[in-house]
Amino acid sequence: MNILDSFSLAGKTAIVTGSNTGLGQGVSIALAEAGAKVLGVGRRPSEETQARIGAESFSYIVEDLGSIEPVERIVAAAKERFGRIDILVNNAGLIRREDAIDFCEENWDDVLNVNLKTVFFLSQAAARAFVAQKSGGKIINIASMLSYQGGIRVPSYTASKSGVKGLTMALANEWAKYGINVNAIAPGYMVTNNTEALRGDAARSADILARIPAGRWGTQEDLMGAAVFLASAASDYVNGFTLAVDGGWLAR
Ligand code: NAP
Repeated sequence: MNILDSFSLAGKTAIVTGSNTGLGQGVSIALAEAGAKVLGVGRRPSEETQARIGAESFSYIVEDLGSIEPVERIVAAAKERFGRIDILVNNAGLIRREDAIDFCEENWDDVLNVNLKTVFFLSQAAARAFVAQKSGGKIINIASMLSYQGGIRVPSYTASKSGVKGLTMALANEWAKYGINVNAIAPGYMVTNNTEALRGDAARSADILARIPAGRWGTQEDLMGAAVFLASAASDYVNGFTLAVDGGWLAR
């Protein structure tokens, strides 16, 4: 087999959460361009993503991932649409900014529920489907620089993303024997809604930019190669690793 064939996702099917915008939209485009059929999940319709990809390769459902109530429905929808599931990308996530000294329970629970609890239970439901199919599968979690660092005024986000990195290793250990690869991508500072407040703060924004060796913020496109790699056979012997796509931020 030619090495480039091992990156192909032809005939594969994927679930991508948070597919309506930002990095989830970029990952959906990348997986579809590599040949997969993608089911997007968002609390708002992923109409723009569908317009960019085409309904042939991308469809979506609307679900709120703030609780695990929709988890079984999401996996069932993918099975019904495609007959099988090969790839899950846990991308949906949110951030709340407040001084740790004042941080409220709501800002803790809302973030932990979407960024960590639902990630675990959706991964478990996908893994059960992979095992039942006897097919193996790929799970890609979206981590963060705050899987490695403390951050400022975002304690629940840091806790959740540090948890995502640990969970990625924990699940990889248990599920590698089923042919399931669980890995994560840690994006650096990317231009999306998630960083709108940061980019709007001139001083913080300049500080961040000055620290990025690549000299620019990342984009949707920057994540695409890593997503296809971790979703494809090219990464079959990569287990439990969090791959930084950060313009060199962590190397600094
Ligand atoms: P974004 O544009 O804010 O996208 C986040 C996505 O998660 C959106 O689709 C959002 O839906 C969805 N989401 C949030 N809460 C949800 C809920 N309760 N139910 C369903 N969907 C929900 O930001 P992004 O940067 O693309 O974020 C994607 C992932 O990358 C997140 O996990 C984020 O933490 C991570 N990340 C981002 C950066 C960065 O610099 N941008 C860096 C490291 C990690 P709505 O559009 O409806 O809010």
